[in-house]
Amino acid sequence: MFASVLIANRGEIACRIARTARRLKMRIIAVYSDADKDALHVRLADEAYPIGPAPARESYLVIDRLVEVARKASAQCVHPGYGFLSENADFAEACVRAGIVFVGPPPEAIRAMGRKDRAKALIAKAGVPVVPGYHGERQEAAFLKAQAVETGYPVLIKAVAGGGGKGMRRVEKAAEFDAALEGAQREATSSFGDARVLIEKYIETPRHIEMQIFADAQGNTIHLNERDCSLQRRHQKVIEEGPAPGMTAALRAEMGAAAVRAAKAVGYAGAGTVEFIADGASGLRSGAYWFMEMNTRLQVEHPVTEAITGLDLVEWQFRIAAGEKLPLAQSEVPLDGHAVEARIYAEDPARGFLPSTGKLVALEFSTDLRIDTGVEVGGEISPYYDPLIAKMIAHAPTRAEALAKLADGLERTIIAGPRTNVAFLAALCRAEGFRKGKFDTGFIDRNIVVLAPKDIDRAAAARGAAHLAAQDMARIATSLDRAADEPASPWDAADAFQLAGARTLKVPILVDGESAIAEIGYGAGGLAVVVDGAAPALDARVVEAADGVHVVRRGRQTVVRRVDFVAHDFGHADGDGLVTAPMHGKVVAIFVASGDKVAKGQRVAIIEAMKMEHTLTAPCAGNVTEIVVAAGAQVAEGARVMTIEPAEKVD
Ligand code: ADP
Ligand code: ADP
Ligand code: MG
Repeated sequence: MFASVLIANRGEIACRIARTARRLKMRIIAVYSDADKDALHVRLADEAYPIGPAPARESYLVIDRLVEVARKASAQCVHPGYGFLSENADFAEACVRAGIVFVGPPPEAIRAMGRKDRAKALIAKAGVPVVPGYHGERQEAAFLKAQAVETGYPVLIKAVAGGGGKGMRRVEKAAEFDAALEGAQREATSSFGDARVLIEKYIETPRHIEMQIFADAQGNTIHLNERDCSLQRRHQKVIEEGPAPGMTAALRAEMGAAAVRAAKAVGYAGAGTVEFIADGASGLRSGAYWFMEMNTRLQVEHPVTEAITGLDLVEWQFRIAAGEKLPLAQSEVPLDGHAVEARIYAEDPARGFLPSTGKLVALEFSTDLRIDTGVEVGGEISPYYDPLIAKMIAHAPTRAEALAKLADGLERTIIAGPRTNVAFLAALCRAEGFRKGKFDTGFIDRNIVVLAPKDIDRAAAARGAAHLAAQDMARIATSLDRAADEPASPWDAADAFQLAGARTLKVPILVDGESAIAEIGYGAGGLAVVVDGAAPALDARVVEAADGVHVVRRGRQTVVRRVDFVAHDFGHADGDGLVTAPMHGKVVAIFVASGDKVAKGQRVAIIEAMKMEHTLTAPCAGNVTEIVVAAGAQVAEGARVMTIEPAEKVD
């Protein structure tokens, strides 16, 4: 076994790898960007080295610098985690050239599977069914459009270099093809530096079923059961579980054998995942699944497999990289109970899942579940990396129990500061269709209104308002105690509290940035607060912060502030022509020029943030009077992008 490892990653996966490395008594070498110098993964390591500025392109993705650090620190091996350089064959080669073991498959296997088009061609040859469509070299728009017709709508345009759901567009009919192709190519270029795409038949009622495989350098290859990752949003996994609902032992053996064939076709070694798309219209069955791609690395959702097999996949990775044989034969692989994982992200379900950033004011998880995280209370969710806060994994004898346990764990989670998807995840776990196993990759979109309500949590708002009012009362009480002749505080509307019996005050507040009214009654029984008819929720945690209070209730955060404590732009009425950036990101395209006439809702710009492109539209009809930023520029949340003079005012 290795005596030392350099972990070429950050966040929860760097911490996860460190845990196993620690148990295996390895010296742990971390790397960090300027944004991560105080990060948990740095503190868990024995040594840590700076590798550059915050943007990943200038730090976590700089191959030469990582190899240099590994050499300087005498690392025996490098573990790349997932994302970043984990599927970069050049990096694997550079490690090997420097005499350092790369914990992953051989560079040739990474290369063979790195492009979805080549991988499909190769896997088809090995006798594994692949999704029908076009995966050749030609890239002219007209040709691809003809291939879409040939394949039959609906189709999916996919970046051949794709990953993380990026560079992908579903197309329903020919009229939408050109715009979709353009979008997929642009996203593919900005994310992967490669505009090439392939065309695939869009499989209806899709279920994402993947097989975890493992191979050693001696030629043994096995699978460690499947995971079902069908709960997705924008082609990204949200909740993953194993085993897949409706899977039979016979079909598992069949799909497992297909995955093993795919791995063998590229001379695989180490951990990998073979992803299939299944037509779930009549349940999982033989003949109704097709190879999509192979991920030549540890997967985000590997804890699901660890839970149901009781194995440590990172330990297996190290052992195989060190030349050991697979410790188990196929027939010895355990399958125990059911596991579900939820990805907790800093994002706002009520605002189209926009990534959220900022300081973690509170962070508490229930202790009876597995939590993989890379952040701590007081830490920052920065705009530079994937906004994953943690993964929560429940394991129980049955699926129903595992789902209930995960929902409970989510609802007891306290995260304040950035917006999170915790309540959304809990709602998913409790959704009837999902619980009954009746779901496909469209489940979230179809149920989004129920799963991600846009209206405020009034009871939480009332609880926050009551907390603020109590603070005020306490402040007033202290000032009255101090001395009668002290100058009056601005809160000396206090007279009202003292004198007025059951009088009610109407106090303007901000609830998640929206104006609301708290009705505060000061009666004999103390404070009685109501917001929009709702009384304060008792099942909530109130976290005080500089700018107001964060009320966390069943995983959902509601921020309540006093209006007079914030500079709020009340003049900013609906329909004015300000186009602002909804989050920190990069302007990738501006579609209009100064002086252009635009219609309400017209696409005017695209901003890319962390994971995805976000389209900005004109808030009103009118003339573009000023464009403040250029394509390529970084913008902060709330920054002005352009101004549109509303049509009424145009002469
Ligand atoms: P899967 O492994 O299930 O296919 P994804 O493709 O969603 O998962 O996950 C890989 C993605 O995770 C990368 O594209 C990247 O955006 C993100 N990522 C990479 N490194 C990290 C990290 N250290 N912490 C959080 N997210 C990361
Ligand atoms: P990535 O590299 O981004 O993970 P994948 O090829 O694995 O790309 O596809 C991501 C997701 O998109 C899949 O998990 C699945 O939900 C959906 N998807 C991909 N191909 C198809 C298809 N042909 N039909 C229906 N859904 C698909
Ligand atoms: Mg995939």
